[in-house]
Amino acid sequence: MPTSGSSHLRHLVAGMLPILLVFACACAQANGFDLAQYRLRAATDRAAGLEEGWRVLADGVFQGNPAGERMLLWYMGAAAIGASEDDALDAITTRLERLAREHEDEVARSYAGFLRGARLIDAGDARAGLVMVLEAANRVFAQDDPLARITAAGELCSAYIAADLAQTALEHCHRYRRLAQASGDAVFMARADYLDASALSRAGQPQQAIERWQGARQHFLALGLKGLAARTAGSMAGDLIIIERHAEALAMAQEALDAAIAVSSPISMAISRGVRADALVGLKRYDEAQTELDQALALVAPMEQPLLLGDLLQTQADLLLAVEGDSPRAREVQARALALKDTGMHLGDGQELESLELKFREREQQLQIRELETEKRAQELALEQARLEAERSEAALARQRQVMWAVGILILALIAGLAVVIRLLRAQRRLAEALRVQAYRDALTGIPNRRALNELAGALLPEPDSEERGHVLMMTDLDYFKSINDRYGHPFGDQVLATVAELLQSLVPATALVTRMGGEEFALLCPDLGKAGAIELASSIRRAVGSLVLESRGERVLVTISIGVAVFGPGTRDFSAWIRAADAALYRAKAAGRNCVELAAD
Ligand code: GH3
Ligand code: MG
Ligand code: MG
Repeated sequence: MPTSGSSHLRHLVAGMLPILLVFACACAQANGFDLAQYRLRAATDRAAGLEEGWRVLADGVFQGNPAGERMLLWYMGAAAIGASEDDALDAITTRLERLAREHEDEVARSYAGFLRGARLIDAGDARAGLVMVLEAANRVFAQDDPLARITAAGELCSAYIAADLAQTALEHCHRYRRLAQASGDAVFMARADYLDASALSRAGQPQQAIERWQGARQHFLALGLKGLAARTAGSMAGDLIIIERHAEALAMAQEALDAAIAVSSPISMAISRGVRADALVGLKRYDEAQTELDQALALVAPMEQPLLLGDLLQTQADLLLAVEGDSPRAREVQARALALKDTGMHLGDGQELESLELKFREREQQLQIRELETEKRAQELALEQARLEAERSEAALARQRQVMWAVGILILALIAGLAVVIRLLRAQRRLAEALRVQAYRDALTGIPNRRALNELAGALLPEPDSEERGHVLMMTDLDYFKSINDRYGHPFGDQVLATVAELLQSLVPATALVTRMGGEEFALLCPDLGKAGAIELASSIRRAVGSLVLESRGERVLVTISIGVAVFGPGTRDFSAWIRAADAALYRAKAAGRNCVELAAD
């Protein structure tokens, strides 16, 4: 299998990148200096980035802004590690530690620890480096600084990859990726994908690794970091070779090689050519493979890179094996490759490391539990709020319903009230009608009274067309009525009055009106009766009253009536004159001895 050599190459590529990128700071701007932009510049051209960083510090741009200075130093440190500038890294970490002392800034102290640890791992002391990174990461827990926490996750992921502990790295890398995605920071996400891919690749999961490499590559391209995108392509090429997609691997490695040539990085060129050689072996293009390999070996020769050299020799051994079969030369190259690879990192026993790792895990777990609890509380709070909201709207609805009921009841009450009022009005009208009727009627006899006569007579006062056919008014008065009352009692008198009223009504023509004027006086208004008819009617009335058979206390009671007749004519111009005439006639009847009829003079 020609893959064992290439896998080491990939690891080397992956191990070089982790510290290159760091995250943006909340305090991105200071005195017009854009830290976010600087972060990208320093990742692209480390030497220039370092130079700019020192200048900015000398100019006092971050005077009185320790948080900004901390971020600048962190980005500078990443560039120093990438450029293998050990002196610069020392100066940077020293400055970070001074910042930590002066401002009691534990985050700055952690950053210094991350940088020193990464450098140690880079230099081959993986155990000491990991201890340092873990201590720095544990320190971050005491700080309520979400950015520092993401950084810690990224540094642990990166450190474990560099220390070749892929399984442990995966755990930290996955967490870093989760935090990076939650932060929404594009550089974080790019780096998280890159590191996660590195860890997956080392853990022997090429398929998943390729997915992450692609993610990282897209992020880098979107950020305009073409060099890093090309490096990612080179790393992906290694995993593509493992799953035997050699043609794609070749293209990806070419992209990485072009970028390495563009920045004239001999080590990157050597790595890319090595991967290309691997892909070409896979494609059975042995001559081209040998040419690539020769160039790679020539590049590596002056360098102190035993691992890279071992990788390239492994490829050479694979190539010889493919071309010549098992030859002594192939075996010799294979042995040299193995010897070189043996100089790789060894962690050895590290109790301190284990306890630090344990401590970190415990704290991380506690934090996660706290976060979950906070999240749960937030959810509960949201639920509670939703419940309260529902209750509020329910209450509002209930109020609305109450109002509607009230309005409904009011309307019904109004309708009912209106009905009552209508009924009252009707009753009142009936009462008024009844009262009106009563006003025109005599209570004792039930016949019309004087008021009725006054009103009707007004309507009956046309010019009489002839004497014979004139309207007639008769005034009647019972004779000696007072003595009837005196003798037989007032109630009997009342009976007599009612009987006489009935009799009068039965005697007059249908068009005539009989009214009680008061006391024992009755007036009779007879339209168109004429003088002769009047005399005849008055005489028959006088006779009928005189013939009434009345009894009280076993005695026969006789009642007589006197009548004055006045025919409407020239002598009676108005009603009162007419009444006066009739009254005068009645007076004369009384004077003539009563129980007789007198006719008024014309
Ligand atoms: P004359 O023949 O002159 O008319 O004598 P008279 O007694 O009828 O006349 P007078 O005017 O002196 O008396 C009328 C009497 O009628 C007096 C009064 O007690 C009686 N009277 C008036 N109104 C009523 C009534 O409503 N009921 C009864 N029972 N008597 C009444
Ligand atoms: Mg009288
Ligand atoms: Mg009388």
